[in-house]
Amino acid sequence: MKPALKLTIPSDRMERLHYVKRIFPDARGDDLKGEWAGGRSNALAKLNNVDAVAYGRNRNFLNGSVTHLSPYLRYGCLTLNETFAAIKGKFGLTAENLLMQLAWRDYWRQVWFTRGNAIYSEMEPPKVALGYARLTDAVRQGETGLPCMDAFIGDLLGTGYVHNHARMWLASYIVHHLKIDWREAADWFEAHLLDGDIASNHLSWQWVASTFSSKPYYFNKENLARYTGENYCADCTAVCPFDASYETLQARLFTQPASADAKRYPLKPLPMNAASMHKAVAVYVHDEMLSPNNSVLNQPFPKIFVFDPQLHGDWPLNRLQFVMDCLSEMMHVEVWVGDTYDVLLQRNVGELITQATPNARVKQALTPFLTKWQPVDKLVDAEMSDKRLQRFSRYWDKAAPLLLGT
Ligand SMILES: Cc1cc2nc3c(=O)[nH]c(=O)nc-3n(C[C@H](O)[C@H](O)[C@H](O)COP(=O)(O)OP(=O)(O)OC[C@H]3O[C@@H](n4cnc5c(N)ncnc54)[C@H](O)[C@@H]3O)c2cc1C
Repeated sequence: MKPALKLTIPSDRMERLHYVKRIFPDARGDDLKGEWAGGRSNALAKLNNVDAVAYGRNRNFLNGSVTHLSPYLRYGCLTLNETFAAIKGKFGLTAENLLMQLAWRDYWRQVWFTRGNAIYSEMEPPKVALGYARLTDAVRQGETGLPCMDAFIGDLLGTGYVHNHARMWLASYIVHHLKIDWREAADWFEAHLLDGDIASNHLSWQWVASTFSSKPYYFNKENLARYTGENYCADCTAVCPFDASYETLQARLFTQPASADAKRYPLKPLPMNAASMHKAVAVYVHDEMLSPNNSVLNQPFPKIFVFDPQLHGDWPLNRLQFVMDCLSEMMHVEVWVGDTYDVLLQRNVGELITQATPNARVKQALTPFLTKWQPVDKLVDAEMSDKRLQRFSRYWDKAAPLLLGT
């Protein structure tokens, strides 16, 4: 491992983008596209532009009025609570549809907090037979021969943003038509997303697969053609695997009996470091708390963010650039690249204050330090260990009256 390096982030944006490339010469993928510049000021501008009424009408269309808020929520530029309150304050109950989508994010996160690394494995036995084939190069490179799926993969590899409906179609195609192992596909997908988030991603793949839902998600050509405005279907010459009724697709896709067991995917243990003997206190800034407004930063101690290969080593270039944009607004945060443990020892740190996270990798990186975890925003205090809350609809039955006052 190279020695830790303290960074000086250029204030000029173009210079900053190039700087990230120099610091991370091996990062894969394209530069961050202009529309996606990171940071709280850009997040607030996006929030200000939200049209929740149009969203309610057309969010399922690929050209619908979706918000593009996901990376800003993922890295903590905006909290879920302030976003929810701002949208509810501006639009009232006409924003119900969008407010419910924000609650999906809350729900998946609360499941991750409660179930931890279990979300990497099948949460329940699948309701239909799943295949466990390896992810193919054709999928990885967007060369499946289906213009729609290849375009969605092109979005993923090019910008890191894929519309929610396209994520569902693509995941369903990969899991139920190609019979690929959802877990390998979910890892691959998450690693390319700008908003890559273990809870929203892996649990959505499980929802599609039927290992965290009561039935598999699949779709037909009519559905895809309608919500894409015929964009891909009009000139498509491929043999369309989706061109059938739901009954025919069901009979075609799910011929084998479902397994009675949930498949487990053991995680590789990470190396452990010895406890720090130092005394200094610091605020550890992780990648879910990238806002100058984060209240944990009010503590009168040095604030330290580390680009650590153990945590961020497989991140694409655009994600690293997005995070560097965010950090450029956080004046008093020291930014390092290297091993978290080495950096904190170099700064004589023995105690840390940070924001709670369900991310086991972050928790493990901080094990050698006495760490105070500050509570993080959630929309509602749901009793997630209650088995009945293993479905979003039941969580929403409880949450909606509290959140919407209905
Ligand atoms: C297979 C698959 C993988 C996904 N992976 C991720 C991921 O890694 N990171 C991620 O943030 N979202 C993920 N999602 C959820 C959703 O697709 C994205 O949050 C959404 O498309 C982001 O675009 P937007 O901000 O324009 O969303 P909008 O439609 O404008 O929604 C506003 C916000 O609500 C939240 N939201 C909306 N739909 C969902 C949902 N189904 N689940 C959770 N939160 C939701 C997001 O925070 C989003 O920013 C995934 C969905 C699927 C089907």
